Amino acid sequence: MAECIFCMVASGEIPANVVYEDDMVVAFDDIAPQGPVHTLIIPRTHYAHLGDDVPDELLGRLLAVVPKVAESKGIAGSGYRVIINTGKDASQTVHHLHVHVIGGKPMSHGMVNFADA
Ligand code: 5GP
Ligand code: ZN
Repeated sequence: MAECIFCMVASGEIPANVVYEDDMVVAFDDIAPQGPVHTLIIPRTHYAHLGDDVPDELLGRLLAVVPKVAESKGIAGSGYRVIINTGKDASQTVHHLHVHVIGGKPMSHGMVNFADA
């Protein structure tokens, strides 16, 4: 899709530190990491979000790649958090489906930060 930054990352038009790639997905480091490890996994094909009729096979691949990324980043043993922001209330800012993999130091137990809290 024209004008989509993650489509441009997938095609190589925008440079990124690619950690893993295959025929369906690309994993690359987040430009503004929220932890020592913060990698994004995206489908090569444009889907706006998790509710955008994403094929099951692709959803499976997106998650199957998470432990591969964790292994290559050295956090498979220490653990990590996997986040898929979806839509307005989740503050999704890039409207190309992406999986956040965050780790590298301990996180608090809660995983929800409401804007008015
Ligand atoms: P969202 O808030 O939509 O779940 O997350 C979008 C993420 O994409 C953010 O963590 C942001 O830092 C990251 N991001 C935005 N633009 C770029 C970019 O051009 N390159 C990379 N590597 N990450 C980006
Ligand atoms: Zn896109």
